Amino acid sequence: MSCFRNYVRNDSVQYRLARQSRIGGGFTLIELLVVIAIIAILAAMLVPILSRAKERARRIQCISNEKQLALAWAMYPSDNNDHLVANSKTYMGGGNLTLKTWVQGALYGYHDTNPALLWSSDYALFAIYINASTIYHCPTDVPEVIYGGQTYPKLRSYSLNAFMGWTGDWPENLPGSPTCRIFEKSTDVIEPSRFFTFQDVYPKSICAPFFGVAMWSEDDFMYNYPFIDHNKGGIVSFADSRVEWHRWRDPRTLSPASLGYHGHSDSLPNNPDIEWLKYHATIGTSPERTLPPGGPPIIH
Ligand SMILES: [Zn+2]
Ligand SMILES: [Zn+2]
Repeated sequence: MSCFRNYVRNDSVQYRLARQSRIGGGFTLIELLVVIAIIAILAAMLVPILSRAKERARRIQCISNEKQLALAWAMYPSDNNDHLVANSKTYMGGGNLTLKTWVQGALYGYHDTNPALLWSSDYALFAIYINASTIYHCPTDVPEVIYGGQTYPKLRSYSLNAFMGWTGDWPENLPGSPTCRIFEKSTDVIEPSRFFTFQDVYPKSICAPFFGVAMWSEDDFMYNYPFIDHNKGGIVSFADSRVEWHRWRDPRTLSPASLGYHGHSDSLPNNPDIEWLKYHATIGTSPERTLPPGGPPIIH
């Protein structure tokens, strides 16, 4: 009898243990929870690694885009009596589309949405050098823009240093300096490794095809904010065709709080990024804090 009782008890204990230890044909509930927790931790660790890897890939694409722009810019003078490719405000502020520049279009209005301004040789001097319009768009930049309630692909992320090949009227709202230099020929660019050509631009601040920095005014100010989404930096190309990631430093550059990006006049005194841009934009600043009426003269 006692033997039978033991048998029954042992059997029920074994059955219970077996029942507890076999869920889903192999794991205890605790084991399953541990595995799920480990997977969750690994996934949480992997997500930033993967997103960093993705951003690295996009940055490489952006560098490649700018390398092609920088090479086209460097090639252009050899086909055009050493003249740098024209850069201007074109459409902006009543400019006209008959003045051909490297590309046209202001990212601030209707012409934003017209890809012919980038790839058609009717408008763009770069059209014969660059045959893929995707080169003008940084993959980290916003993919689309909205005008008048309509969504369009964002066509251009890059602008060209205003002091490189400026043609036509100087923008009234961009102070230069009585002595700052507009580079007209490639031989004018005496330190090609110093002066920037293209860079990606903060999406809300990109405008005409030029990138402006106020060289000399009562206030230091940003005409265009640089791009910051390549890990707090942007991609900058130089006149020697070098292309680099540049880390912006000032919190006001890294988190722009503009009241109106297209007022192009945010006063940012003592901003080291403006100093960097000025040093790499052109040569010459005036000791006099005066501007000639209507902006700086174009010095040839
Ligand atoms: Zn970029
Ligand atoms: Zn604007």
